[in-house]
Amino acid sequence: MNLVLLGAPGAGKGTQAQKLVADYGVAHISTGDLLRAAVKAQSELGKQAKAYMDEGKLVPDQLVIDLVKERLQADDAKKGFILDGFPRNTAQAVTLDAELESMGIKLDGALLVDVAFPVIIERLSSRRTCRSCGYTAPAGTETCPRCGGEMYQRDDDKPETIAKRLDTYKAQTAPLIEYYGGKGILIKVDGDRPVEDVYVDVKKELGL
Ligand SMILES: [Zn+2]
Repeated sequence: MNLVLLGAPGAGKGTQAQKLVADYGVAHISTGDLLRAAVKAQSELGKQAKAYMDEGKLVPDQLVIDLVKERLQADDAKKGFILDGFPRNTAQAVTLDAELESMGIKLDGALLVDVAFPVIIERLSSRRTCRSCGYTAPAGTETCPRCGGEMYQRDDDKPETIAKRLDTYKAQTAPLIEYYGGKGILIKVDGDRPVEDVYVDVKKELGL
């Protein structure tokens, strides 16, 4: 099971990934987590990434790809992986395809957790994030269930910025749906339902 996860911020794709990881032992490769971990570990790639982040710049694609490639070498990734947060646009998807091919790895599917924008806006504005590990939970959660860190509302999840993020998502990520659709590996599930119902569909679509 080698998957790319697609879906707007707040669509619940991370939750579905965590469930697949728990049940099937595949690696959940979140590029946000990878970057945070590399920076914390002060690895060579982490130091490079930090320099960009400190300047408020986007980390270059190649650096993210290098981190992903490093992560794919780990034992758990050999059973399968779920890429979360990358690729974000078609150019990155093309690069990823080339890199995976050179590693002899085949992408089995692009899983799209589909949720209408008004629902996304409602969900995101009530979302809180852990300052330490990036875990997300609904408003009212004061401490992180994963690491005990402090939960806060990211600027990104404030109503005024959500609309902008969704515009960016639509412009950049929506073409990926077409890209993977064209390759015949797009798997679309309706994400506007309880988590467990979505998961039943995900497993069915993946033949699990
Ligand atoms: Zn945490």
